Amino acid sequence: MATTSIKNFGENVVFTPKNFYSPGNVGELLDILERHRNEKVRAIGSRHSWSPIAQSSEIIISLEKLDGVKVEYDEQGAVATIGGGCQIKRLIAELAKLDLAMPALGLISEQTIAGATSTATHGSGRHCLSHYLTALHIAHYDPLTSSPTVSVIRDPDLLRAAKCAVGCMGIIVAVELRPRTAFRIEEFLRFYTTLAEVVEKEADYPLQQFYYLPWLDRYLGQHRRETDRPRSWLAPLYRWYWYLVIDVGLHLAIKAIVQGLKSRRLPKVFFRSIAPFTVARRWKVIDHSQEMLIMEHELFRHLEIELFVRRSELGEAMEITRQLLLWADSSVPLPPQTERILDRHGLRTIAEKAAGRYTHHYPVCVRRILPDNLLISMTGGGNEDYYAISFITYDLPDQRDGFFRFAELLSMVMFHRFNARCHWGKYTPYHHPQIAANYPELQEFQQRCRQFDPDGHFQNAWVKSRIFGSSGSVNQ
Ligand SMILES: Cc1cc2nc3c(=O)[nH]c(=O)nc-3n(C[C@H](O)[C@H](O)[C@H](O)COP(=O)(O)OP(=O)(O)OC[C@H]3O[C@@H](n4cnc5c(N)ncnc54)[C@H](O)[C@@H]3O)c2cc1C
Repeated sequence: MATTSIKNFGENVVFTPKNFYSPGNVGELLDILERHRNEKVRAIGSRHSWSPIAQSSEIIISLEKLDGVKVEYDEQGAVATIGGGCQIKRLIAELAKLDLAMPALGLISEQTIAGATSTATHGSGRHCLSHYLTALHIAHYDPLTSSPTVSVIRDPDLLRAAKCAVGCMGIIVAVELRPRTAFRIEEFLRFYTTLAEVVEKEADYPLQQFYYLPWLDRYLGQHRRETDRPRSWLAPLYRWYWYLVIDVGLHLAIKAIVQGLKSRRLPKVFFRSIAPFTVARRWKVIDHSQEMLIMEHELFRHLEIELFVRRSELGEAMEITRQLLLWADSSVPLPPQTERILDRHGLRTIAEKAAGRYTHHYPVCVRRILPDNLLISMTGGGNEDYYAISFITYDLPDQRDGFFRFAELLSMVMFHRFNARCHWGKYTPYHHPQIAANYPELQEFQQRCRQFDPDGHFQNAWVKSRIFGSSGSVNQ
């Protein structure tokens, strides 16, 4: 099928594939693969990645019609088999009908299960979503016969690669996971002056996430824990509060300041004087897990970079964050330790380019993710918890230059200081040298990909250059 151009959510990746297909069943998918056996094939989900990870000028396949959810029961409980194109929101709704819930969720539910799996999408206080999968059904070319086929992966070693394979092992037709019995979460919001105070609360609220509010220089804890207590009778009111005040009101105000007034002074006034009053502090509410964990963060276009550090590095990482936010805004002198990082790693030019060019205008969200054993997930390896630190811009697509300069400086400093990783599905300035240093098991991942896809049918130019280190690049 001929195509028009495809845009991602952030409108920072736009491309026109030669052919776009949306097969209605697995047989049709295999026919398409047969027809294009000499071309590059890339699957696409709901285009919610900011990196060019799904981009292709050749064959693009959407599994939107393969979105079934089948739940069966064995001696250990429920097993769900979910079509790769199923959006998380549909999956949540289907599970809720059976009094079941997802073991982990990200901030939004627009992604497809295959897309979320491919980039190790995560929430807070649990493992990434991929961790919970027990099997993947993958369409690829049989390495012996070169004919299209579907393999079901259950082998634990192969799953370590396939559960976060950034589209490089083939097309995920379905995944299997064990849903949980539906559960409820208690939540409340509270301000803190120090990082230590908000992190300490994790002991009582293991599902919490928190925000660093630039310019106010305070932390806001969104404390969460599971509870057996019933849903609060005011929960519907709390939902309306979140929707009207946070999801819509706060974001419209930020958009008006950044995009309408194009002001770099007003974000500071807003965070210091207005934003704190939008927070309903200490209002404890209990609601169903899927209601509490999901926000409507996709309502307004934005772009995000997310950096992963280990627990022992969080304090210093947040201090560097604070320093670089000030440096990007008004070239406030950096402390000698940070200056040394710039000098030692040749980052002086990047720092000069970022100085005084960008005023951050959004809370910095910090989420804890438990370590997993996947080969190239951002949270793979070691025994320490990871913290994902996220930076979002609401600048219009053609006005993001200042943010990109800040993001490059921040990520390179974090890379050299902590070997911080960037989210696969978000904006990343990292190239192959950083990615190779980030993932000690990268070679094993590449080997597993070759086992499934010896000719690299399912790679695009971006993963080829950044992950596999081959020449050829894609602009971001
Ligand atoms: C507003 C917003 C909020 C977000 N919140 C979070 C969050 O809370 N936590 C988090 O971790 N991430 C978050 N993300 C990032 C997002 O979860 C990931 O980028 C995710 O991969 C997007 O899924 P998608 O279905 O849109 O896939 P796409 O972006 O379309 O594709 C992503 C990757 O998956 C591959 N892929 C898609 N379908 C298949 C398939 N069937 N078989 C094989 N490969 C496939 C693509 O080739 C590509 O490599 C957010 C993104 C946005 C825009």
